[in-house]
Amino acid sequence: MMRTWLKRGKMALRFFIFMAIPYLPLVSMAVPAGPTLAISSDGSPAGARVSSTWPVGDDLPDRLSSLFTQAAIRERARGWDVKRLESSGWRVLQSRRCTILGNVPIDDLRAAGVYADAFLEVLEDALERDFPDRHLAVRVFRDQEAFEVYASIAGAKGAASFYDPRSAEVVLRWPSQGHPWRLLMHELTHAHLDLAFKRREPLWIMEGLAEYFAGYDVGHGRFIMPGGASPEAEERIRRALEDGSYVPLDRLLAAGRDAFYGEAHDVYYAQAWSLVKFVAENQYEDWPNALAELARGGGLDDLGDLSDFEKRWLESIRYSH
Ligand SMILES: [Zn+2]
Repeated sequence: MMRTWLKRGKMALRFFIFMAIPYLPLVSMAVPAGPTLAISSDGSPAGARVSSTWPVGDDLPDRLSSLFTQAAIRERARGWDVKRLESSGWRVLQSRRCTILGNVPIDDLRAAGVYADAFLEVLEDALERDFPDRHLAVRVFRDQEAFEVYASIAGAKGAASFYDPRSAEVVLRWPSQGHPWRLLMHELTHAHLDLAFKRREPLWIMEGLAEYFAGYDVGHGRFIMPGGASPEAEERIRRALEDGSYVPLDRLLAAGRDAFYGEAHDVYYAQAWSLVKFVAENQYEDWPNALAELARGGGLDDLGDLSDFEKRWLESIRYSH
């Protein structure tokens, strides 16, 4: 296939609420926000929390993730229906695009709705496909313990957040400090890929895109620009190249849950993010919108020889600093 390697310009840029935790089978398709999940080799949830220095999911120090002021949130959320559920402080709020459930303060619940709506628009624009006209649920826990029980039942034990395709639900825990906007964007990317593209594989594209969108910058305090830099992830890859933990491209493209959610998750996530960013920042004759092509199921072999591609990609990482 023909390809050109010009630098790309700036990126143009349901259902019901159960107070009780609904029954969920233990074998799960839940897609965790990678860095903190451990899954045993038979695919069942297992193990302790894995800590990681690669949490693109949540707000990073020195990186602005806030987009809306409190006043802007109130303005956007004006008229939204909020119901208090009968017990235990849970509320359900209907944003323009989502149903938000949570036992967090009402301002936080509204903020989650405003951000979720804005993130879905960004995903629709970037991937050139509308989110289906159905309600996605976003469930926000105030308590770590209750979140962990819920995650464990969903098969995402140890995850910082996750998307459960069986219930079309994004599940987050509200942090004690800061906001979970990057985690929300990560999980909404999984929801969008599942509901608009019917795609949950391959994992390098799913996690790579989720990290690419979660690593957004806020331009002029107003615009969400996906694909921001991550010096930490690039450093992780350079270290992997030196210490032999680098995952060769052919293995990365075929990697499954054991690899992505296992002990070496940090290098898999870093490489998947980097690869998606590299694809997004180049221009290909056959792929006018490379991100949309990836989401639609395009493979890197559509772009020519893989080893040649891998060399160019690694060069971009080696010389990016
Ligand atoms: Zn993920």
